[in-house]
Amino acid sequence: MIIQPKIRGFICITAHPTGCAKHVQEQIDYIKSQPAITNGPKKVLILGSSTGYGLASRIAAAFGTGAATMGVFFEKESDGKKTATAGWYNTAAFSKAARAQGLYVRNFNGDAFSDEMRAQVADAIAKDWGQVDCIIYSLASPRRVDPKTGLLHKSTLKPKGPAYTNKSMDFEANKLISITLEPATDVEVADTIKVMGGEDWQLWVEYLASKNLLAKDSVTVAYSYIGPEVTTAVYRNGTIGAAKDHLEATAHLLDKRMKEAGGRAFVSVNKALVTQSSSAIPFIPLYFLLLMKVMKEKNIHEDCIHQIYRVFADRLYNNRPLSQVPTDSEGRIRVDELEMRADVQEKVAELWKNVSDDNVTTIGDVAGYNSDFLKLFGFGLKGVDYNADVDPVVPID
Ligand code: NAD
Repeated sequence: MIIQPKIRGFICITAHPTGCAKHVQEQIDYIKSQPAITNGPKKVLILGSSTGYGLASRIAAAFGTGAATMGVFFEKESDGKKTATAGWYNTAAFSKAARAQGLYVRNFNGDAFSDEMRAQVADAIAKDWGQVDCIIYSLASPRRVDPKTGLLHKSTLKPKGPAYTNKSMDFEANKLISITLEPATDVEVADTIKVMGGEDWQLWVEYLASKNLLAKDSVTVAYSYIGPEVTTAVYRNGTIGAAKDHLEATAHLLDKRMKEAGGRAFVSVNKALVTQSSSAIPFIPLYFLLLMKVMKEKNIHEDCIHQIYRVFADRLYNNRPLSQVPTDSEGRIRVDELEMRADVQEKVAELWKNVSDDNVTTIGDVAGYNSDFLKLFGFGLKGVDYNADVDPVVPID
């Protein structure tokens, strides 16, 4: 099959196996080019391990500290007519590379929100590892079935306050559009908290603890975002922000319990990056292509893998006692400090004010955004022959 990108709205419905493998290899190469992480975790469970921040976490753990990893994800394999999803190909490539290095790899494709998945993973930990010493929670999903009630909850991306109008980028038409988001109802806020808040994270940690599967000094980290003024209405003061508040409150609760056994629970606030989930958030892509331009000009641009290497190497491990992990006043790990730097934000705010159809491609990094977006699906990688016939069926074992 000759595989080309087919973009529908904010998603690409095809993915390229060789390109995804190359993208994974680039991240592995980056980690290998960095100083090894000392006293890193050895048995790491990553929930949401196939793309974005979760994939970067799995790569950093395996290739930065030589950790055995179990990954849980929700991806589709190829039936021979359609391609698999990018996360499927990423996982296949990661697994092959990690095993080639003699590292333990185990994959679970299915619903991480379900009790069945928790039981399966717990079984595997008990049999293969005895205990887990790090759990990364990096799920991003538009829906979740509550395992207790069986009810389906859908998340929304809306402001909590009044209706909000601002500029956004229409990538298909390559022009700016004005978007108005109506205020969320109380039910929509509660549903988004159900999907993206801390409840499921807590269920995972408590379940594994109840089976005595958490090592004495284990760490769990979930990822959050804060962001600047221009995204506040839709992000931090919106439905997703309410879910992140809940996630952060959950971190405090879990931290208290895990401290009793010498462990810790944290939220890490990461920077805005192009991922399959973030590209769906109104206003964020426009903010992001302006941010990318500014951060590249200042030579401080980072991708998921750079961010996660810093979480592991500069915050959590490298012989730092868990009691001395640097956090902000709310107890959160921060690796968004370059994005939030005053000079960066002042420049982005000025660009946001002045951006128009005429100048968006020059004052914003539209080309960089598009290229990063395509890369998520394995397209546009150097050295990959996109005219070659490739087999879309790639096994994950
Ligand atoms: P992503 O879309 O790249 O990854 C989501 C992962 O979750 C994938 O591995 C997917 O397979 C998995 N997943 C989704 N539903 C699942 C289910 N039901 N069962 C099992 N696996 C499932 O997302 P991302 O942008 O890397 O986001 C990960 C976390 O990082 C989120 O909490 C997000 O809010 C946070 N974060 C993202 C950004 C950003 O700009 N992208 C910034 C800061 C924090």
